[in-house]
Amino acid sequence: MRAAGVGRALVVESELDRLDGTLSWAADETCLGVAAGCHPHNARAWDDRVAEQVCRAWVNPMVRAAGEIGLDYHYDHSPRDVQRRVFADQLSMAVDARLPVVIHAREADDDVVAVLRERPAATVVLHSFSSGATLRDAGLAAGWFFSFSGMVTFNSWALLDTVRAVPADRLLIETDSPYLAPVPHRGKRNEPAFVVEVARKLAAIRGVSFDEIAETTTNNALRVFWGQSI
Ligand SMILES: [Zn+2]
Repeated sequence: MRAAGVGRALVVESELDRLDGTLSWAADETCLGVAAGCHPHNARAWDDRVAEQVCRAWVNPMVRAAGEIGLDYHYDHSPRDVQRRVFADQLSMAVDARLPVVIHAREADDDVVAVLRERPAATVVLHSFSSGATLRDAGLAAGWFFSFSGMVTFNSWALLDTVRAVPADRLLIETDSPYLAPVPHRGKRNEPAFVVEVARKLAAIRGVSFDEIAETTTNNALRVFWGQSI
């Protein structure tokens, strides 16, 4: 990651029972922050104990975001009504904790928008964005952040207009490691260094320089996740 010129990264830990281990190795690296939360896949495990785990995690200064939280109706690992309740609960908690939320939305865009609209004070990051018009238009209107992943490098990527429509101050990039390795690394384990390929592709789609995308997305990440006034 350092060799590729990537200065910062957010480590997403969705298994709260592993969070202590993640925090301890991430603490050795000043370039890393951590996101923690109850992923929609695990929503059915939500109870007072898990809520307490999340609260405790979110006061740790290493933790820079609440997430991934959201809704996943593709896998339906947890019942949908439970997912909605756990998402709404965590969203309120994150607003209270003054943490930005990293949103996982899969085949549930209408309900994601409905839940997010009930809490307009949240700072919202739509992670690995690949949704359709409903979530896109809601996000553009509300000033949410759009984070694009290696999917933008795939031949099948069709959301060119969405990539162009996001205002520069709402643009973020990610890898979603270890999944979704970008071209030309398809089939390998994805890793933070490969975010360079996402930046390269976004620059081409938006018709700006690589350096401009790198600077814009770095500054946005520092602002959203590290609270710097850039
Ligand atoms: Zn996700």
